[in-house]
Amino acid sequence: MSPAAEAVTDALRELHTRFAGLRDGRLADYIPQLARTEPDAFGLALISMDGHRYSAGDAGTPFTMQSVSKPFVYALALSVLGLDEVCRWVSAEPSGEAYNAISLEPDTGRPDNAMVNAGAIITTALIPDTPDTPRFERILDCLSRFAGRRLDVDEQVYASEAATGDRNRALAYLIRSTGPLPVDPVAAVETYFRQCAVRVTALDLAAMAATLANGGVNPLTGDAVVPEPVAAQVLAVMATCGMYDASGEWLLRVGLPAKSGVSGGLIAAGPARFGLATYSPRLDPGGTSVRGRAALGALSERLGLHLMHNP
Ligand code: GLU
Repeated sequence: MSPAAEAVTDALRELHTRFAGLRDGRLADYIPQLARTEPDAFGLALISMDGHRYSAGDAGTPFTMQSVSKPFVYALALSVLGLDEVCRWVSAEPSGEAYNAISLEPDTGRPDNAMVNAGAIITTALIPDTPDTPRFERILDCLSRFAGRRLDVDEQVYASEAATGDRNRALAYLIRSTGPLPVDPVAAVETYFRQCAVRVTALDLAAMAATLANGGVNPLTGDAVVPEPVAAQVLAVMATCGMYDASGEWLLRVGLPAKSGVSGGLIAAGPARFGLATYSPRLDPGGTSVRGRAALGALSERLGLHLMHNP
């Protein structure tokens, strides 16, 4: 093993040991099925641009993507429609608000960005059905290509969110009431629930983040999933908006584009260097994994990953 590979392996193992005892935070329970998750699961994974996979702990444990799906569906929308068209419907400003906030610009009615629920529901709605591939199949195909393997849906988590997701439905109705959209967010919100219930592991998420870091080419399969400019656009929005109302502090301290999800997944990407992911389901009050936040912060410091550094 090269010295660099050894340093990554040691760092992941050491951080897993250091933070496994951290039991702060609570499981998300507004989606009832998520409250049944094993709270102590903890996995870390990193994939480099040459396709090396590093992991520690429960990196092969399945869980649902939830909001970690948002940047990848945004990437699909950008690939299909282009940046200018997508920006007509979803802005790219940090909202400084929680994931489920009613964050619509007063003058245009556009959601602030594609990382909060309002923007993500429109992003999903913007993916057109094709004659042989319905919208959700296109999304699942795209997520699978980012991961480098065929993904599936956790039907129990999907049913649980569909049964309780009235706040997101209300958001979709509100968006529809604010202006002329080319698509129906109310119809799309059920697809959004399905996309949130796509099942992954920390290793899958590391591959997905690594694909963004690698200019849209999956470093495991060589598949060009999205064009390079799209990967850069998605990383830019993750950097400014991916951690909701904690995005500024995250960029300040950790210095990497990132995205959290309420099932406990967290991704970060080092452009042209690596994709990183953690899984640990206990969340802080902002909806981010407590151990994931601690482990990625410590890893960034230990390996000097902050993007603004001049090493
Ligand atoms: N499915 C969740 C919701 O829309 C995702 C939220 C998140 O992961 O931040 O409420």
